Amino acid sequence: MCPVCGKFYFSLSARDVVCYDCLSENPPFEAHRSAGIYEGKLRETILLYKYRKIEYLAKPLAEFLARRLGDFCDVDCIVPLPSHKKRLKERGFDHILKIAKKLGRIMGIDVRKILVRNKYTLPQTGLSRSARLKNPKGSFSLIKDERYKRILVIDDVWTTGATIREAARVLKSAGYKVLAATVARDI
Ligand SMILES: [Zn+2]
Repeated sequence: MCPVCGKFYFSLSARDVVCYDCLSENPPFEAHRSAGIYEGKLRETILLYKYRKIEYLAKPLAEFLARRLGDFCDVDCIVPLPSHKKRLKERGFDHILKIAKKLGRIMGIDVRKILVRNKYTLPQTGLSRSARLKNPKGSFSLIKDERYKRILVIDDVWTTGATIREAARVLKSAGYKVLAATVARDI
């Protein structure tokens, strides 16, 4: 995999080579890891958890993530990526926060909601809805907590990585060291 963003490679000759994306633009996080590929049973489990609201799946998903992360997590705080208010209301539970809390319990690390989702801001009003969703700039605010220095940002699925990059950018500009992890990576 790419040692920076954790992109999976399917050739042994590419092992430990920094990927094109990370070479062309240094990401704001130190590193990102996904526990697995977003396909098969893992994808099914995430979909059941997220959309069928089978909430007890948070625990095995967090355990899977914890096992795969191992000693990657030299952090003092876990921060879940906040969902949109509307999505939270539709879903009825904060699926990322729930995984983050289970992960925190397994690893003995504090979990804090220091990132807050903003409503779409003015500069984006000229954009279409799909363009706004693809452009997460200005999506997050921060409630700074001085007790922590090294943050692990958690999300369920890495798709383009744009949202995690933006969250990491906000945290980094506030002086935090940022690692990131997702349960699965879309390839
Ligand atoms: Zn990379």
